[in-house]
Amino acid sequence: MEGLILFFIHIICYWAMVFLYDVDVPKTDFNNAVTSSLKNQILYTLPSTIYFFNNYPIQYNNFLLSIGYLPVLIITSDCYFYITHRPLHTKWLYQLHKHHHTGKVCVAKSLDANGLEHLFGNLGSFIIGIILLWYANHIINIYIVGSWVAIATINTCISHSNFQCQLDSGSHYLHHKYRQCNYGFGLYLMDRITGTFK
Ligand SMILES: [Zn+2]
Ligand SMILES: [Zn+2]
Repeated sequence: MEGLILFFIHIICYWAMVFLYDVDVPKTDFNNAVTSSLKNQILYTLPSTIYFFNNYPIQYNNFLLSIGYLPVLIITSDCYFYITHRPLHTKWLYQLHKHHHTGKVCVAKSLDANGLEHLFGNLGSFIIGIILLWYANHIINIYIVGSWVAIATINTCISHSNFQCQLDSGSHYLHHKYRQCNYGFGLYLMDRITGTFK
């Protein structure tokens, strides 16, 4: 049940951002991005979220302590995303990733990806911090998990807003433009360390 609610938080955030900021996108680009994102949400995000949170020990206590876990989630997801995203820009794997780089940058493109890329890259980066903390016996309060779903979804949407949202730093836009920089997201820590931050 909690998994289904978390999925709906994600859906509401994503589609609200699409309707808010995708105002001036060529119809073909928008339709391609929406179709691919919807496919990923229904085929991969929905079942994997329900499966994961059927097994995750749902915690309603430790609300304040769990706020302290948010920086861990932000840092691990950024590093994980860099590690899984950078190899997709090699000549061997770019074929898998190129759909995400085709067409105009828009919010709808946030989840426009190959199925494997969406499952292991996008969803993996969202969940990796939760799994690592769980492994270390730290269970996150479910309301903080819900906030993390909203933060992660809105953040990726802002980074694809093509500067329509004033909070768009342009870092991910530059990744779409040059394809050889800013492989992470959020803090771009690994990019700053390895010299690929632009
Ligand atoms: Zn992108
Ligand atoms: Zn890329």
